[in-house]
Amino acid sequence: MTATAGRLVAGATVEIVEGPDDICEPLCRSEQNPHCHETTVPERDRRALSLVTSLLGRRLAHGDRFVFDDQLRTRLRAAYRDGAFEQACTLCEWQSLCREIAAGGYQDTLFRSSGEDI
Ligand code: SF4
Repeated sequence: MTATAGRLVAGATVEIVEGPDDICEPLCRSEQNPHCHETTVPERDRRALSLVTSLLGRRLAHGDRFVFDDQLRTRLRAAYRDGAFEQACTLCEWQSLCREIAAGGYQDTLFRSSGEDI
């Protein structure tokens, strides 16, 4: 996770994928019943992609690539903090943790620029 966050901070291109991404994939390989393989996850991913598409006013699909720059990151994080993704995150076991991180301004997260304030 630290290496992936470092690549994102450095401006690496990201790709929208179906299924576990580079953050989750190592966990899926190491766990017997990985969270990402639960039946509710694909529906949550579909809802999240739809909400991001609406938020950005730009159609997004699997295979699309872009740079996750400061402006985009700040915009999406502010939207998450303000509840824009609640519909996608319903039933996720991590929701209370994600809400707590967002409410705390994403302090101590790995994917952030120095001095970033959300
Ligand atoms: S609650 Fe957090 S981990 Fe769960 S789907 Fe939403 S953003 Fe992802």
